[in-house]
Amino acid sequence: MRYIEPHGHMVSRTTDDYQAMVTAGCVAVCEPAFWAGFDRGSVDGFRDYYRQLTEYEPARAAKFLLPHFSWLCLNPKESEDLALARDVLALIPEFLGKPNVLGIGEIGLNRNTRNEMAVLEQHVELAVKHDQLILVHTPHLEDKLKGTNLILDLLGSHRGVDPGRVIIDHVEEHTVKRVLDRGFWAGITLYPDSKSSPPRAVDMLEITGGECIWLNSACDWGVSDPLAVPKTALELRRRGHSEDFVDAVLYRNPLRFLSQCPKFKLGA
Ligand SMILES: [Zn+2]
Repeated sequence: MRYIEPHGHMVSRTTDDYQAMVTAGCVAVCEPAFWAGFDRGSVDGFRDYYRQLTEYEPARAAKFLLPHFSWLCLNPKESEDLALARDVLALIPEFLGKPNVLGIGEIGLNRNTRNEMAVLEQHVELAVKHDQLILVHTPHLEDKLKGTNLILDLLGSHRGVDPGRVIIDHVEEHTVKRVLDRGFWAGITLYPDSKSSPPRAVDMLEITGGECIWLNSACDWGVSDPLAVPKTALELRRRGHSEDFVDAVLYRNPLRFLSQCPKFKLGA
C-alpha cells in the first residue's frame, strides 16, 4: 500500500513516528504551519519556525527517505494581535521560494472573530499575489458550520481564487457537500477523539463519491495518531471497497491536488 500524509505536524512527532509511517507505506508528508500550543511572541519566533519547516524538518524526514513539504502562514488562533500578524505576513514571501513550500496554510478561522476574518483575508491576498495553493482550517464543533460558510463566501467571492486550488480541511458530515458543491477540495481529518473517525470518513467518501477528497491525520502535539490514514484503508476494505479505490483516496487524490504545485515531486 502507498499513501500520502497531506497534513501532519511532524515537528511535534518522534523519529519512531517517521519510521512507522514509512513502514506503513507513506511516500510523502506535508506539514502546514500550526499553532505551537502557546502564542509565539515575536516575528523572530515565526522566522525560526519557518526555518524549521523549510530546512530542518525536511532534513529529518530525509533520514527516513520521506519527502517532506510544508505550507506557511500564521494560525487563526494567532490573529488577535494584528500588529504582529502584519509583520509575520510581511515575512512569509521570503520563504515562499524554498524548494519544499507548497502554498499558504493552514489558514482559516477558529472562533470566527472579526480579527480572524481580517487576517484570513490578508492571507488570501498573499496567496493570490504569489499564485500559491491554499489549505484552509475550519473551526471546531459548534463554530464549524458558520465558519465554513464564512470561509466559502470569502473565497468564493474573490476573483483571484480558483476553488480547484484550495482545500478546505477538517470537513464533517454537515459541511463536506457544501465544500465540494462549490468546487473546492475537501480534507477529512482522522482523530482518536474528535473531528472524524475512520467509519465516519468512509461514510462521507461513500456519500460523496470521494473524487476530490483527501484523508489526513493532522498528527500534532495533542492526542492524535500519525497512522490514522493507513488504518482507514482497513475500514475501506472491510466494507468491500476495491484496492483501486483505496489507492485513489489515499494516494492519487492528494497527488492530484498537490501536483498543482510544480514543486511537489515524489522520488522514483
Ligand atoms: Zn493542522
